[in-house]
Amino acid sequence: MSCSPFDLRDYFLKELSESETRQVANHTRTCSACREELERLRVTQQALLSLGDEEVPQRLAFVSGRVFDPSPWERVWSAIAGSRARLGFAAAMALSLVLVAFTMIRETTLEQRISQIQRDNLQVQQELKRAADSYDYSVRNELLLERSSYGERQ
Ligand SMILES: [Zn+2]
Repeated sequence: MSCSPFDLRDYFLKELSESETRQVANHTRTCSACREELERLRVTQQALLSLGDEEVPQRLAFVSGRVFDPSPWERVWSAIAGSRARLGFAAAMALSLVLVAFTMIRETTLEQRISQIQRDNLQVQQELKRAADSYDYSVRNELLLERSSYGERQ
């Protein structure tokens, strides 16, 4: 253990605040024990870094070894591909799935288009009705005006 005001490992890993870092730096200037501790940390880090470099290829080899293990899908595929009849069946299944999906998509878009047209028709109907109502209203107003002016004239 060191006599530094803050943990030398935190100082070494630059996890201290600015003022804490300054205090540790001032302390290590006068404390040889803490300077030695910091040197040990530096050596340890160097050792870990060089060890890490050597271990990377090993880890890669391990990972790719697992990757090249047949996955469940690959096993199913090789079981299917192993037999001509099963391959033909699988191809037919895949094709029918595509056709079903295609038909479903077409039906969906057709339904969407029909309901869109129905919505549009409803909107047009409402607009026509509104126009007719306001036309009726203005015609009625004109008639009323005419009648009242006629009445005035009387
Ligand atoms: Zn110290």
